[in-house]
Amino acid sequence: MPGLLIIKGLKPKFPSACFVCLQPADKEYTVSRTFGSGNRASVIEIPMPLCADHFAVAISKNPAEKLVEKAGIFLGILAALGTFFFLLSYWSKSEQGSLVLNILLAAFIGLGAFLITWVSLAFFGAPLFADKNTKAIREAVKIKGFWPNSQELQLEFKNERVAEFIARRCENQTPGNN
Ligand SMILES: [Zn+2]
Repeated sequence: MPGLLIIKGLKPKFPSACFVCLQPADKEYTVSRTFGSGNRASVIEIPMPLCADHFAVAISKNPAEKLVEKAGIFLGILAALGTFFFLLSYWSKSEQGSLVLNILLAAFIGLGAFLITWVSLAFFGAPLFADKNTKAIREAVKIKGFWPNSQELQLEFKNERVAEFIARRCENQTPGNN
């Protein structure tokens, strides 16, 4: 059973106990989630305390994850070049705009294509290929909810013992249910 807590404040300070084993933690792994509301996006980041051992596993990347990260750069460049040349040839055939302006605009949109491809693969695709142990540690705490008005976060702890520990030690929190 995962443990849910509501924490007051968007930048919580946790006691330095590993979120996996509750041993003293001297490392922090950033857990983040993006919440969109209307046309605004809020990136919420919390520092997850980890002991040295669990931190090492959390940041370790297996060959598959590394490969997808590299593929993200490679495919991003392809997408950028493809977009750039497609737009240039399309605009020159339809004789739209001036050449210099078209090159600048195509380069700008090409850069966007690179970023979209690279971010999707490196930040969303690659972590899916992480080892089970690594994933389990990265997901020891998840940001489930975010209320900007009351400045509250709902956190889900994989380990109920950790949730209870944080509930006792962290001020300004209340046990939270869905
Ligand atoms: Zn640990």
